Amino acid sequence: MIREPVAFEGFLESVRRFVREVAIPAEGVVEADERVPEDIVDKMRQAGFFGWSIPEDYGGAGLTTEELVLAAFELSQCAVAFRARVGTNTGIGSEGIVADGTDEQKRRYLPPLASGKWTGALAVTEPGAGSEATNVRTSARREGGVYILDGEKCYITNAPLADIFTVTARTEPGSKGAEGVSAFIVERGMPGLSTGAPYRKMGQAGSPVGSVYFDQCRVPAGNLIGGVEGAGFRTVMKALNKQRIHLAALSTGPAMRMLEMAIQHTNARVQFGQPVSHYQLVQAMMADCKTEIFAARSMILEAARKRDRGQDVVLEASMCKYFATEMCGRVADRCVQMFGGAGYIADHSSIERWYRDVRLFRLYEGTSQIHQLNIARLLLRESA
Ligand SMILES: Cc1cc2nc3c(=O)[nH]c(=O)nc-3n(C[C@H](O)[C@H](O)[C@H](O)COP(=O)(O)OP(=O)(O)OC[C@H]3O[C@@H](n4cnc5c(N)ncnc54)[C@H](O)[C@@H]3O)c2cc1C
Repeated sequence: MIREPVAFEGFLESVRRFVREVAIPAEGVVEADERVPEDIVDKMRQAGFFGWSIPEDYGGAGLTTEELVLAAFELSQCAVAFRARVGTNTGIGSEGIVADGTDEQKRRYLPPLASGKWTGALAVTEPGAGSEATNVRTSARREGGVYILDGEKCYITNAPLADIFTVTARTEPGSKGAEGVSAFIVERGMPGLSTGAPYRKMGQAGSPVGSVYFDQCRVPAGNLIGGVEGAGFRTVMKALNKQRIHLAALSTGPAMRMLEMAIQHTNARVQFGQPVSHYQLVQAMMADCKTEIFAARSMILEAARKRDRGQDVVLEASMCKYFATEMCGRVADRCVQMFGGAGYIADHSSIERWYRDVRLFRLYEGTSQIHQLNIARLLLRESA
């Protein structure tokens, strides 16, 4: 665990250097080739990026939640595809195993996830189970020493390249909702598992997202997470509660970068004889961006510290995810505005790419509406 403030500041500086010197110069290539170049993925492996949130005992850095979000503020200031490449290993693709895996599962799967040798993914969403994630149709039937999985998952980040998947499947036929749903670790190469081609999508070029199919897929019984049937949703929710704070941080770094780009542009762009940054209506947009970024950063750090103290952060995680992702959308919109026409023309600036890339944040890991409902439900329960 990185605990010495000086050492941790050095670590953050190394992330900033990676963003500035390696990632930002390659953003155009990632967009054009729709992939993060393998030599850059190797650099991220060597720098230990894949293992940030995995305990040290399993080869990771064992960052606290506070340390993880501080690192995320930095790494997310380059094109989203870079952090999405490592992001399933530092988040949803490993967190279920960290939270509830058996010792044997942790020993087998966490070290290759921490080193980046393997890429993990979380496969919860199905054609009929989006916001209603508990409406799981994928089934898992026990036959001796294996479970047979049948079903389909969709919209899965890193599915086209993942080596292992945390998968929710219904082990109790006829059960409803979260009850009777279990979580499994499924390796690519297990018979009956296949993945679809990457979807064409609005943004985040270079971050592949696809479907996962289970056709009588045979998974060893030892790969049932925690060895307990029916606890799959609890595992997923544990992973998501941490991840929502993490994603809030990953939505704040892009807002910081977009504002920096808008300031540079408005300082350079002259209209009516002055840089447009001199005009107070433009300054108001900057002030609103800066204020909202500060608000998001502050609430994320507060929630992260609370989680590190072992306190319940279900409400805070939802508020952070909701506020930071919506904030990022507002910042993206204002920054395009500050660029004027150049903000719309891909040949003239990359702010339009950011505008498209960050739109996803408000949709996945619980839409804004689902978080509003969650916040209100917890609030009303608290006040009752
Ligand atoms: C690029 C991308 C990557 C993704 N990565 C992953 C991944 O790695 N793993 C994974 O498991 N999933 C992943 N997802 C899926 C994502 O989590 C879901 O898309 C998301 O939860 C929303 O579900 P849905 O798309 O079915 O929308 P729907 O549930 O169909 O929602 C449609 C609209 O209805 C609203 N709505 C739904 N229910 C209610 C309600 N009760 N009250 C009010 N409004 C409501 C929603 O807010 C939304 O506005 C990804 C999605 C995308 C697009």
